[in-house]
Amino acid sequence: MWTLFRQQLVAGIDLLLPPACLLCGQLLPTSLDAQSFCVDCLAAMPPLSPAHCYCCAQPFPSATSNHLCGTCLKRPPSFSIVHAAGMYQGSIKDAIHKLKYRNQLTLAKPLGQLLGKIVAAKDNAFVPDCIIPVPLHPDRLRGRGYNQALEVARPIARQLGTPIDTTLLQRSRNTQQQQGLSATERKRNLRNAFSLVSKISTFKVLLIDDVMTTGETVRECSRTLLAGGVAEVQVAVVGRA
Ligand SMILES: [Zn+2]
Ligand SMILES: [Zn+2]
Repeated sequence: MWTLFRQQLVAGIDLLLPPACLLCGQLLPTSLDAQSFCVDCLAAMPPLSPAHCYCCAQPFPSATSNHLCGTCLKRPPSFSIVHAAGMYQGSIKDAIHKLKYRNQLTLAKPLGQLLGKIVAAKDNAFVPDCIIPVPLHPDRLRGRGYNQALEVARPIARQLGTPIDTTLLQRSRNTQQQQGLSATERKRNLRNAFSLVSKISTFKVLLIDDVMTTGETVRECSRTLLAGGVAEVQVAVVGRA
């Protein structure tokens, strides 16, 4: 009885408030999930550049084929590959900003679904044992009220049927914001910023973050995980700068 009443109530609310794009507010066809993006916003989410580093996904705008970037050649990363929903531009950049700095938590689900599709479509034998979102320091988490990487990870975990682990990897040092720092400063800023609560072995981890710019954060997380016994880390980010 209650279920029927609730279904009728939800249908009534949908009728009064037709689904709208979470980003621009444009009305959506009723066939679409109420928590999604319109075709215009989706068209303004550029996919990863066809030519990119086949390890860290750094885009090469003027190249025509994939190769290892200079950074990965000089400092081979501890993760094996980076998956990205798209470039950190256009509507992806807009959505990440709103999710991160304007408390628009509803954006996490469609962004996570976009990324989940990319990860699931990759033709590789990697089956993660767990999904780990890049952790925030407890002080930063208290300030923001949520970890955007965890919110993006939830729909991916549902899609892959893989559990999320938020206890193993900890941010033990409250670092300065990476934005505005040079590459060397970013590296120094994050050194030993993460730690593991316990040693683990033969574990495969899918590490999730909202955005990757120089990649120092995921490099340091991945290094910490491998030093703690993890067998393999793959990285998935919504936007790749
Ligand atoms: Zn839109
Ligand atoms: Zn690279």
